[in-house]
Amino acid sequence: MIETIQRLEAAARALEPDPAQRGAWLDAVRAYAEGFLDELEVLPTYTRDAGQSSKLDLSITERPGRLGALLENLHETVDGPGINPASGGHLGYIPGGGVFPSALGDFLADVTNRFSGISFASPGAARMESGLVRWMAGLVGYPEGAGGDLTSGGSIANLSAVVTAREAMEIRARDIPDACVYMTSQAHHCVDRALNVAGLGECRLRRVPVDDRYRMDAGALERSIGSDRRAGLRPWLIVASAGTTDTGAVDPLEALAAIAERERLWLHLDAAYGGFFMLCEEGRAVLKGLQRSDSMVMDPHKGLFLPYGTGAVLVRDVRLLAAAHAYQADYMQDARGGAGAAEYSPADLSAELSRPFRGLRLWLPLKLFGLAAFRAALAEKIWLARYFHARLSELDGFEPGPTPELSVVTYRYVPKRGDADAFNRALLQAVHDDGHIFVSSTRLDGHFTLRLAVLNFRTHRAEIDYLLDLLVREAARLAAA
Ligand SMILES: *Cc1c(COP(=O)(O)O)cnc(C)c1O
Repeated sequence: MIETIQRLEAAARALEPDPAQRGAWLDAVRAYAEGFLDELEVLPTYTRDAGQSSKLDLSITERPGRLGALLENLHETVDGPGINPASGGHLGYIPGGGVFPSALGDFLADVTNRFSGISFASPGAARMESGLVRWMAGLVGYPEGAGGDLTSGGSIANLSAVVTAREAMEIRARDIPDACVYMTSQAHHCVDRALNVAGLGECRLRRVPVDDRYRMDAGALERSIGSDRRAGLRPWLIVASAGTTDTGAVDPLEALAAIAERERLWLHLDAAYGGFFMLCEEGRAVLKGLQRSDSMVMDPHKGLFLPYGTGAVLVRDVRLLAAAHAYQADYMQDARGGAGAAEYSPADLSAELSRPFRGLRLWLPLKLFGLAAFRAALAEKIWLARYFHARLSELDGFEPGPTPELSVVTYRYVPKRGDADAFNRALLQAVHDDGHIFVSSTRLDGHFTLRLAVLNFRTHRAEIDYLLDLLVREAARLAAA
């Protein structure tokens, strides 16, 4: 037996490289990262996959590989084709970020592998996460008793909020067929999915009409709730958006909060995209009333420019979040704080137990850069959207959508003759073919519509000017064709 163990140990020790090996790997990874960042400005934001990704080395074998070869493979197959979200030219969908200190935070979190889910296991990591969540709650103006959880993203954060609302409003299975949910056609599709996943797919979903700027019509909401009540149904949940993905529209938060309070409905706010604009004055002016919601979602991997992997759910009364996620397990008995434990552990407020230590990738950039830089970057994004909108308004043939509330602008070209949808599809294609800038499209009021979404911290005026020039040039070419 001892011999077997010795033999296995000798082979298993390969999993612990010595300092020289670690150093060599770190150097190679560092060189790769630096090379990537050096090339960002010249590389395309969008590259069509001409078969590169199919060359990914997926042979998982018994033999150890060589990092140099693996990085080369990664460079070609993964960091080549598709959208490069790290690029300042990413102006499609809602751009992601990738501030560098988050990578360092992830690195340290992965090396130390602290178990952030339970205070007992890592009081410091759990404290960091709950402290960051409380900072966010304070930022949006939630009261003292608020709390929340760092999630993998906005979709899961919305799910967590919907489940919390379901429990807090005591919607049981038998109530579902009569239970009414109110949101607009502009709500993010992950909210529909959250309702389905939460077993609420058979609720009556009311698509509340929007105004000419795609914001929820508060009067229509009120009428809809009234007629549902008269029909003996059970209105219980309003899902509003603070910055829709499609158009950046902010629903009339104060009016919706007043309705929710009067009608005793749960008001959930999806601010995955817009929430962190609370950091700048321009954003705060638009987001008035945010703090009157019962729960909300905001995505540090959008508005705080983190790499993908961090969203947040906030609940005005943290006890309701805990109640919705309560659990019992005998093998966890050492880990429970016991009666009177002042702080919830992340695992008390989430469907997760083991989880990445997400706090560090958020704490490190906030501490290293300080808030002023984030405030400036967010305000800059709003002004860049306004600038794009203003310049587009002066251009012949272009028809900008509403003045942006945050940092999304919709627009299209209206050709003198021919099919406008086909024209704009071709214009989008031309931008993609150029590759320097990536923008995306949507459908609004039946029209194929182009969008600009400014949220990458690397996007500055040069990218906007490049896009404007490109649009003018390509539209002229297409119109002449
Ligand atoms: C991005 C987004 C989501 C989804 O968040 P993920 O982090 O991508 O899961 C939800 N709602 C809005 C408004 C968003 O912009």
